[in-house]
Amino acid sequence: MKVQHVAVLGATGSIGQNSLDVIASHPDRYRVHSLSGFSNMALLAREVDRFKPRVAVVPTQKAEQELKRLLSCSVDVLVGEQALVDIASHSDVDIVIAAIVGAAGLRSSLAAAKAGKRLLLANKESLVVAGSLFMDEVKRSGTELLPIDSEHNAILQCLPVSQQLSSVKSILLTASGGPFREFTQQQLEAVTPAQAIAHPNWPMGRKISVDSASLMNKGLELIEACWLFDVQPSDIEVVVHPQSVIHSMVRYLDGSVIAQLGAPDMRTPIAYGLAYPERIHSGSDDLSFDALLNLTFDRPDEQRFPCLRLAKEAFSVGGTLPAVLNAANEVAVAAFLEKKISFVQIPVINEETMHQMISTRVESLDQLIEVDAEARQLAAELIGVRS
Ligand code: NDP
Ligand code: MG
Repeated sequence: MKVQHVAVLGATGSIGQNSLDVIASHPDRYRVHSLSGFSNMALLAREVDRFKPRVAVVPTQKAEQELKRLLSCSVDVLVGEQALVDIASHSDVDIVIAAIVGAAGLRSSLAAAKAGKRLLLANKESLVVAGSLFMDEVKRSGTELLPIDSEHNAILQCLPVSQQLSSVKSILLTASGGPFREFTQQQLEAVTPAQAIAHPNWPMGRKISVDSASLMNKGLELIEACWLFDVQPSDIEVVVHPQSVIHSMVRYLDGSVIAQLGAPDMRTPIAYGLAYPERIHSGSDDLSFDALLNLTFDRPDEQRFPCLRLAKEAFSVGGTLPAVLNAANEVAVAAFLEKKISFVQIPVINEETMHQMISTRVESLDQLIEVDAEARQLAAELIGVRS
């Protein structure tokens, strides 16, 4: 089998690190072509020394100097967002792992889709912000888009091989419910960033951990699923399943429900995306069937966790509104992590930003980037008024 060359965008993050772990155990199949980091140059330097990629991408010249000072081997260092785009579409790259967090990952994910790469998409925000543009590029280029968000990867595994959706009745999108699942409104008002980022089942980056606690993550994932599988929010049932053993399910017309189960370990969906349609070792522990004795299910509570409702509203109105919601949420989560606002103010900022901006038809990437900037500014102003 020909060795596949992989670009890992966001290599210093949680998904990036899990991806490198899978890649490292299959040196006969995968070689790292390029790695990107943003603030953690010490870790990027270690990974460059370990994998000896051709290229490393950093955000600034200062970061470039720091990286070069830390490196023991030589590597081409490219600087800035355009370098991420260039890597994602480079002719020597076969597989792009899009694991940058937030709308900052949009340009490079889209570039990989345009260039027809096998694209392992972790960066769900790309689809939330630019779903229509993104899916148009996927169809045009014939790129193999493989979601590695665990739920979407599970759904992909449960769908009919033919991908004919006419036999599918609905998608059951599971949610852990996060660390505050059983908190009262009063308790939610007092939660700290440290509590929010301590997810009960999955160690993840800070932003997605807060999103998971607020159910914004499930809202973003609902939009992600609508684009990926060409369905509407009404075709998706969100099921709270605190043990995170079932990663999602598909309900068929004949009464069958097909589920994908596994230990909560992101290396499983990453390995699936890398080797598809084959299966390779991921390093995940085997699922212990003792754990199955305790599988429980519940409905999401949109009163205490309004972000899920906001996401449905944003997708149903459509146009640029999901991009507005995403931008507001990124700003609100950062403000919460900096202790400028409380946890329960995150949905308030998101909703006010959504309602103060007019949704327009999506026309171009530049327009979406402008909308993103405008929504960030408005959300920051709303936070300023409160703090
Ligand atoms: P992390 O915060 O752990 O990592 C984010 C990565 O993006 C890091 O490499 C970081 O670099 C880099 N980065 C941050 N800001 C920028 C920027 N402005 N420009 C370029 N690079 C940047 O996040 P996760 O790995 O948890 O999440 C990554 C994506 O995957 C998110 O979209 C998330 O929703 C999705 N995802 C994550 C899951 C998980 O289990 N973690 C599960 C499913 C989806 P540095 O660290 O050097 O600053
Ligand atoms: Mg997920």
